[in-house]
Amino acid sequence: MNVRVGHLYPDYLNIYADRGNIAVLQARARARGHELSVQAIGMHDPVPAGEIDLFYIGGGQDREQALVAHDLVTKQDALRDAVEDDAAFLAVCGGYQLLGHSYRDVAGQELLGIGILPLHTIAGPRRMIGDVLLDCAWAGETLAGFENHAGRTLLGDGAEPLGRVVDGFGNDGESGFEGCRYRKVFGTYLHGPLLPRNPWFADRVLSDALTHAGGDPELTPLVDELERQAHEISAGRARARGGRY
Ligand code: GLN
Repeated sequence: MNVRVGHLYPDYLNIYADRGNIAVLQARARARGHELSVQAIGMHDPVPAGEIDLFYIGGGQDREQALVAHDLVTKQDALRDAVEDDAAFLAVCGGYQLLGHSYRDVAGQELLGIGILPLHTIAGPRRMIGDVLLDCAWAGETLAGFENHAGRTLLGDGAEPLGRVVDGFGNDGESGFEGCRYRKVFGTYLHGPLLPRNPWFADRVLSDALTHAGGDPELTPLVDELERQAHEISAGRARARGGRY
C-alpha cells in the first residue's frame, strides 16, 4: 500500500526534531511492505482533500505558531472534512495547541486554532519541562516522552485525553491529563521525538492511516528490542522525577 502523508508546515514547526516521527513511520511501514509518500503542505498550499491518509504537524515556538496560525485557519474546512472522513492525524505540542479553539501566548496574543480538538490553551509564567510518562488505559499501554511548553491546555467537556500523567506535567500540570484524542486524531505535548520510543503508538497511527488508505490495518509485529529499551530509559527518567509537579 501507499500511505499518503501530509506534513503541515515542516519549515516552521519542527522543534526537537519532530520530523523524526515521520522517519519512524516510514521505516515501520517499509518493514511491512508499505510505502509512505510524504508531501509538505506549507504556507498557502491547498490541502489535497481526500488524498491524504495521515496529517502530521509538529511543535514550534510561539513565534512560528503565530506565523502559521492565520494560514492554518484557511485550511480549517478541508482539515475538518478529512478528520470526519477518518484520516489519521498526529499533532505535537505547538501543532497540538493550534488544533484546539485558541492559544493565548506568553505575550497575551490570542491565536485562533481550528477547533478540531475541544480544548483551548493559555500560556503561563512557568514552563513545564522534562520527561513524561503516561498511562493510556484505553490502549493498555504507556507512552514516554519529553515535554517543554508554557501553554496550559484545558480540555473541554467530553474531550478524551490521550493519557493520564504518571510522572510529568501533561496538559496543564494540574488535571492529570495529557493530550487529546478524537476519531483518528491524536494531539500531545510529547516530543522526544515521540514515536521512536513508543513503537505501539507508532503502529497505531500507521494502522489508522492504512485503514484510511483502504489497506489492511493489521501490522505484523516487529522485534522492537531497541525501541523498548528506549521506552524504558525514558520512562525511568520520568519516574525519577517523582510524580506530578
Ligand atoms: N509555544 C508553545 C508553548 O510553549 C509550544 C512549544 C512547543 O511546541 N515546544 O506552549
